[in-house]
Amino acid sequence: MAASFVSHTDVVVIGGGPAGSTASTLIAQRGVKVRLFERERFPRFHIGESLIPETYWVLERLKMLDKMKQSHFVKKFSVQFVNANGKLSAPFYFHDNKPHECSQTWQVVRSEFDLMMLRNAAEQGVEVNEATRVLDVLFDGDRAVGVRIQKEDGSTEEVHAKVVVDASGQSTMLQNRFKLRIWDPVLNKGAIWTYWQGAYRDTGKDEGATIVIQTPNKQGWFWNIPLHNDTLSLGVVGPFDYLFKGRGSHEQTYHEEVELCPAVKERIANAKRVTGYFATKDYSYRSRECAGDGWVLIGDAFGFLDPLYSSGVLLALKSGELAADAIVEGLQKNDTSVAQLGSWGDAFNRGVDLRRGRGVGLREVDRATVARFGCGVCLDAFSLPQFRITETCVRNEDLTFG
Ligand SMILES: Cc1cc2nc3c(=O)[nH]c(=O)nc-3n(C[C@H](O)[C@H](O)[C@H](O)COP(=O)(O)OP(=O)(O)OC[C@H]3O[C@@H](n4cnc5c(N)ncnc54)[C@H](O)[C@@H]3O)c2cc1C
Repeated sequence: MAASFVSHTDVVVIGGGPAGSTASTLIAQRGVKVRLFERERFPRFHIGESLIPETYWVLERLKMLDKMKQSHFVKKFSVQFVNANGKLSAPFYFHDNKPHECSQTWQVVRSEFDLMMLRNAAEQGVEVNEATRVLDVLFDGDRAVGVRIQKEDGSTEEVHAKVVVDASGQSTMLQNRFKLRIWDPVLNKGAIWTYWQGAYRDTGKDEGATIVIQTPNKQGWFWNIPLHNDTLSLGVVGPFDYLFKGRGSHEQTYHEEVELCPAVKERIANAKRVTGYFATKDYSYRSRECAGDGWVLIGDAFGFLDPLYSSGVLLALKSGELAADAIVEGLQKNDTSVAQLGSWGDAFNRGVDLRRGRGVGLREVDRATVARFGCGVCLDAFSLPQFRITETCVRNEDLTFG
């Protein structure tokens, strides 16, 4: 199919989720021309509702903080755990770890949050094109030089750019093209979830707590995320084979897991289910490379970590921010090489590994890495008992706390 039209810009961003809107906003703030293409019309459904405190710093740069404070999103101050024996931990208040305004974060309905982020990008100069699918990334040799898009009316266009940012989420456009994906052997899990109204929730400061509930057979865990309008996001995560092989429908499996778990069952005893069932089977992965000549991967298009860490949106925001800074610096120096565009990758990976608790001891991480990843994210996260407990839960081990 021949493209009917060719246009030019400085930077193209594929995808209008948190990663794409973050990168595009920060690039536009510096006076660079950015066009963002999103295949859906927003608002659109998305999973990934529980934010963590470290998002504050990127939201601040994006000028999103006031909007978040004025929103009706449920305020989240803490996380709590229920172990396989049904024992409930005391809340881990983020403020105890870091007495700062950032220690209050939010449980967001993603369709609303992502729309706010995309509108915020447009307000700051990003040319946002919804209902526009990127069909392909265009290359001249090894260098990305633009994209081919298809609009709602079916017409196509080539958009040439100095840099292409892939923020296409789990579509992982460039990761697929170059076969860059590395699966995480431990985190090969899946999830089934639905939404409830009228479920039990605590009051006051504890109303917005995420509750992580380990199942009695320690095969998996539930997330219990209270959203506004008295809605509860309740999902079960488990090893892929356990949840999806030789079991019935998603609905049957979900309810079998609820039956096994009294701590969950009692929370929804008087609740009404308000949506169908959702499932995801592709789990944690990371790309071998975060950039090439003229292209960069951010957010889920770069990597995805088990939702137990509630870190997806943070990593989308953080990679979007680091990539945006590298792109702006590169454009100023007329250098859009892989070395320049991917200069943030190693530090970011070490930050993710630290959050993941894998292969990196605190002493091994140099201060520069921590500073680069930003705002003490790694140190703060690692020092929280929450994250040590998280790792235990992910490995289906005994969950103990005082
Ligand atoms: C079960 C589960 C639970 C989770 N829970 C949490 C949680 O509690 N907290 C948390 O922080 N994270 C959570 N996450 C992770 C979170 O959902 C993601 O990490 C986050 O959405 C990544 O943002 P993104 O911008 O990279 O991708 P997305 O939000 O997926 O955005 C990508 C966008 O690209 C668009 N797109 C794709 N292909 C094209 C194309 N060809 N052309 C144009 N547009 C395109 C898509 O329509 C989409 O809007 C969870 C994930 C799962 C699977």
